[in-house]
This record gives sequence, C-alpha cells and structure tokens, in this order.
Amino acid sequence: MAEMVGVEVERLWEMLPPTGKGMKCEPIRLCGACYAQSPCHRIEWQFKSVWKCVDYSLGISHRHQLKLLAKYPQCKARFKMPALWEYGRCDRCSLPFSEMGKHQKTD
Ligand SMILES: [Zn+2]
Ligand SMILES: [Zn+2]
Repeated sequence: MAEMVGVEVERLWEMLPPTGKGMKCEPIRLCGACYAQSPCHRIEWQFKSVWKCVDYSLGISHRHQLKLLAKYPQCKARFKMPALWEYGRCDRCSLPFSEMGKHQKTD
C-alpha cells in the first residue's frame, strides 16, 4: 500500500510545472551537513548545474564545499520527494539524513 501511494505521488511530482529556470526536480539532491543544521530540503540543491552545497544568500561562497548526494550513500536508493521526508532518514537502511554529510566528498 505504501508503495502504491509513493508511485502516485511521484507521478504527481512529474506533472508539476518546472519550478523555475535551471531547476530540476529529478534527481532529488541533498546535503546531509545542511540537513543536520536545519532539517528541510533546500530548493537551491535542485539547480541543475550545481552539484555542490552553495549558499546563495551569501553570494557564491560555499557552505561545506560538499558534493550533493542524489542517492542514499548506504543502500544507493534514490531520494524520495522532500514532501515524504517526514522521518528525516532512509526508510530502507534507516540512515539519518543528518549523518550523510560524512559520506559527502569535497572534491
Ligand atoms: Zn551543505
Ligand atoms: Zn538507505
């Protein structure tokens, strides 16, 4: 049942109009280090040309210099849409988002 709902929500997500120029809805990306500070999805992670954690409110300066994740580092599943992040962790391997910063690379 939970899986069926997930598929339907993903389909809805695909039908949404693009949220802006240069934005991508897929794959969902995440910076675990940022999530540890503030547990929510940041829309700037979805800028398609940006694969690093950048704080746009501070201009071009990087926050953690970390590469964004597009998959769970342990089980390699793709992230679900942020509306389904209610537990803040992977529902397969239970890895909390806030611990994923350790798995992100700086290069
Ligand atoms: Zn970050
Ligand atoms: Zn997992």
